[in-house]
Amino acid sequence: MSLKTAQEYIDSLRTRKLNLYMFGEKVDNYVDNPIIRPSINAMAMTYKLAEEPEYEDLMTVTSSLTGEKINRFTHLHQSTTDLMNKVKMQRLLGQKTGCCFQRCVGMDAFNAVFSTTFEIDAKYGTNYHERFTKYLIYVQQNDLVVDGCMTDARGDRSKSPGQQPDPDAYLRVVERREDGIVVRGCKLHQTGMVNSHEILVMPNNSMKNDEKDWAVCFAVPTETPGIIYVYGRQSSDTRKLEANKIDTGNINFGGQEIMTIFDDVFVPWERVFMNGETDFSTMLVERFAGYHRQSYGGCKVGTGDTLIGAAKAITDYNGVYKASHVKDKIVEMCHLNETLYACGIACSAEGRKTQSGNYMIDLLLANICKQNVTRFPYEIARIAQDLAGGLLVTLPSAEDFDHPEIGPLVKKYTQAAGDNTSEKRQRLLRLIENITMGCGAVAYLTESMHGAGSPQAQRIMISRLVDLEHKKELAEKICGIQENSDINWK
Ligand code: SF4
Ligand code: FE
Repeated sequence: MSLKTAQEYIDSLRTRKLNLYMFGEKVDNYVDNPIIRPSINAMAMTYKLAEEPEYEDLMTVTSSLTGEKINRFTHLHQSTTDLMNKVKMQRLLGQKTGCCFQRCVGMDAFNAVFSTTFEIDAKYGTNYHERFTKYLIYVQQNDLVVDGCMTDARGDRSKSPGQQPDPDAYLRVVERREDGIVVRGCKLHQTGMVNSHEILVMPNNSMKNDEKDWAVCFAVPTETPGIIYVYGRQSSDTRKLEANKIDTGNINFGGQEIMTIFDDVFVPWERVFMNGETDFSTMLVERFAGYHRQSYGGCKVGTGDTLIGAAKAITDYNGVYKASHVKDKIVEMCHLNETLYACGIACSAEGRKTQSGNYMIDLLLANICKQNVTRFPYEIARIAQDLAGGLLVTLPSAEDFDHPEIGPLVKKYTQAAGDNTSEKRQRLLRLIENITMGCGAVAYLTESMHGAGSPQAQRIMISRLVDLEHKKELAEKICGIQENSDINWK
């Protein structure tokens, strides 16, 4: 059976023994931990929607490797339609969870590693592609979550991996044995790590010829000895510990970021997919980053849909929606959000087949997509805060609303247009707060800025991928500096 139910997925985490720390303490039962559980619920939605006939075409697909029905999150894209469906699936999940649902990094890593290992083998006669294909069949058949890992600690940013005073600043091979390798290092901000079954590690950036120890790609189960997980803090995270969940804004769902330390971790050879091929680390990084820059044209748009919905609702309950400037601001939010979606679809529609047979997005358009994502969600969030009003940051706590003496007064003075608008406004303001400055802003804003590479990384790619000389020639032909051979009629 290739598909797990949401319940089976959650149950599969319960048996896992992870070396996980949060707030300076070891966490054993992380599945029922109130701070962690919302992120597990968000991931579980990637399974839940695959169970529903309504979403079958979007969420499931026939495996190119086994012919079996699998979850699209474990799929190798076989066409531009597959690439577009990936973006549509991510938008749907963003709408359903209002947060980061975490499963995309693995999907993006599969597709990048699959094509890159094929090309490494073609050059060096290695067998990484066969190893990786076997591994991916295992993942597909067990419907596993795999966390793609790229970003190292990176130490002094002005120095390359081999020049760092601490060589562990970039994850590296510290020992090569007959049966495998031993690795040490840290992947600094891993989305959805303890919700995953497996980890797929890739190099962080381009490598010089003598930096072979850092050019490594491999997979291990999350339970592997030597791995330490440290849970990242997020704004207002301890609100999840409160009995009344209204103040969390997003009642059931949330994201998760983990510092993941590899403290001399053994990896058997059959799980090693790159070992010193420094000339392919750039290809792997660019392809993974490209896919993940496409991903943001789906997931951020889905969360944006939720935020726009919250803005519309709060203006209704405040009694101001009919004002023309309010309507216009909501139109502006939609314009920005759909522009992001258009970029996600465009880089997918312009995708092409790789040598290995799976499909890659158009890299230039994926970088344009992500560059817009570093800006537009901030503007959408600014407008949402404008429309929400100052009560967004002055609203009393849920406990005050529930208090036997002051509760009725708090409700009376937060009542606006229509019956029972006090609690509706309370919930919507907390949701807008969550997405624009609370836990949800981690994914909607900061990750939009830095996830899949900070803005400058896209600008470097854009400058490399655009053909400015061609554009110059176009202009010079039009204005007569160059002869225009297109004109061949009298
Ligand atoms: Fe997926 Fe978006 Fe979360 Fe990245 S930020 S894992 S693309 S939902
Ligand atoms: Fe991300």
